Amino acid sequence: MEQPWKLAQPRLRFAPAHVTFVDSMERTRLDEAEAKLPDFDVIVGIGGGSCMDFAKYLAWKRRSRLVLIPSIVSVDACVTHLVAVRDGGRVRNIGHARADSLLIDFDLISAAPSRLNRAGAADILSIHTASFDWLLGHKKNGEAYDARIAVECHEVVAALEKSAVDIRAVNGEGIRKLVELFEAENDLCVELGNFRPEEGSEHFFAYNTEHLTGKHFIHGELVALGILLMSRLQNNKPDWVSALLTELSVLYRPNEIGLDAGELQEILLTLSRYCRSEQLPHTIIDEADLSPSTVNALISDLL
Ligand SMILES: [Zn+2]
Repeated sequence: MEQPWKLAQPRLRFAPAHVTFVDSMERTRLDEAEAKLPDFDVIVGIGGGSCMDFAKYLAWKRRSRLVLIPSIVSVDACVTHLVAVRDGGRVRNIGHARADSLLIDFDLISAAPSRLNRAGAADILSIHTASFDWLLGHKKNGEAYDARIAVECHEVVAALEKSAVDIRAVNGEGIRKLVELFEAENDLCVELGNFRPEEGSEHFFAYNTEHLTGKHFIHGELVALGILLMSRLQNNKPDWVSALLTELSVLYRPNEIGLDAGELQEILLTLSRYCRSEQLPHTIIDEADLSPSTVNALISDLL
C-alpha cells in the first residue's frame, strides 16, 4: 500500500528487488498483478488488511517465504493463515499461507489513524456474539462444540476489556495487546479447525451490508455495529457491549460509519434470506424475529 510504503521505505536497510501495490482483492485482478511479477524468494507485505491478504495470496501462489509487517492493527489478517480473496464481490478462502515472520513496528503502526487501529478491537469482541451463535448451532444442529475452547475464547474477550484504556490510547501496550489477542483468538480457531468462535451473526451482518450497499466500510466498525445489534437479538449483555465499544472509542453508530437508516433497515430485513442463500452456519439470525416492527425497535435509538 502506497501510504505505509512511504512511511516504511526510509526505515528499511535494503531496497526490495520489486515493489507492487494492491488496489483490489478481486481474484481476476490478483491473477493479473501476479502474472506481471518477476521470480522472487520472499514477499514482504507492508500495509493494512488487504495488503496482508495480497501478500499471503502471492506467497501461496508462488510458494515463497512470507514476511508480514502490518502498518495498522485494524483487522486480524496479519495472524490468520487463510488466503482470502474476493470473487464477484464475495469473500472466498482459497488456501493457506503462514507468515515466516510477523514484524510489529510500533512506530509504523502508531503513525496510522487511531480510529483504524482501535477498530481492530471489534474483530476480538466478535467472540462475544459469535460464540453465542456457535452454542446455538450446537444445541440446534448438534454442531461440534468444545467447552474448553469456548471458555478460553471468553478469556480473550475479558483480556480485551482489561486493556481497553491502552487500546483506546493506541499506545505501545495497546498495540501489543491487540496483536497478542488476535494471535490467541486465531490459535484457538486453528486448534478447533474453524472460525465459529469469532465469526458469527455480527460478521454475517457485515457481509450482507457490503453485498447490499456495495460500499466500503472500516471492517471493525461495521462488525462493531453487528455485535451490538446481534447481542440485542441474543439478549446477550447489549448494554455491556455498547459501554465497552464506547470505552474503546470504536465507532459503531450508523451515521458515524457511513450507513443511513433506510440501508440499515434493508440490511436487517434481508439478513436471514442472505444467510440462507449463502448457506452460512446457524446463528441467532435463523431464530430471531426480524419483521419490520422488530427491526425498527432494534435500531430506533441508534439513528
Ligand atoms: Zn472480521
